[in-house]
Amino acid sequence: MKDLIKSLVTLQEIDTRIIEKRFFIDKVPLRIYEVDEPLKQAKAELEKMKQKTESLSKKKREKEQFLEGTNEKIRKMKGRVSEIKTNKEYQAHLKEIETSEKEITAIEDEILTVMEELDTALRQQKEKEEKVNREVEKINAFKKELDREVEEYEKELASLKEERAKLVASIVPDVYGRYMMLLKTGGGVAVTPARNELCTGCNMQIPPQLYVEIRKNEEIIQCPQCLRILYYSEDQANPA
Ligand SMILES: [Zn+2]
Repeated sequence: MKDLIKSLVTLQEIDTRIIEKRFFIDKVPLRIYEVDEPLKQAKAELEKMKQKTESLSKKKREKEQFLEGTNEKIRKMKGRVSEIKTNKEYQAHLKEIETSEKEITAIEDEILTVMEELDTALRQQKEKEEKVNREVEKINAFKKELDREVEEYEKELASLKEERAKLVASIVPDVYGRYMMLLKTGGGVAVTPARNELCTGCNMQIPPQLYVEIRKNEEIIQCPQCLRILYYSEDQANPA
């Protein structure tokens, strides 16, 4: 294989690796976003649960205060018995006390119900808290691993770029310019092998005479259809 073709093939190999690494690094924010979404949802659910327990606690306190007030009212009513003069007044007074005592029973039942609801809500809140904590832990581990990978990839990218710069210096600017244009139009593939008389870039059937020329690996030959630079490689012709 002629040096120029060999250089272009190597350049393409380097660029393919650079593109892969960049693709990985560029996708990091999306991957973080994807794992952050379930956490946000879990946090929102927890927030809702906290509001529920708060409102139940408030309801419980209000009912307890009402109970206390009613008890106080009954105590005061009982204290006023001596002030009552007539039997009719006395009967009415007793009735009032009875009504308040019935109220007490009802409130006590209500408090019990609220306490049960609150217990359930608190248990659910705890579960949601644990879920959030688990998500946070998972995400932190994931981000740490990503950071490590990105760091490694950045290092590899730096060394690939160095290697690339050295190689580019040995390629005629004209050819390099054409390569760069093809890299752009070819979706990251400017140089591709010809295999079984086909362009592996676009699958076009290569005319036999052109294929003979490509097999020589002597000059730059572009695919008539996709314009990618074609070369011939022995091991690619007969994959193991
Ligand atoms: Zn092609």
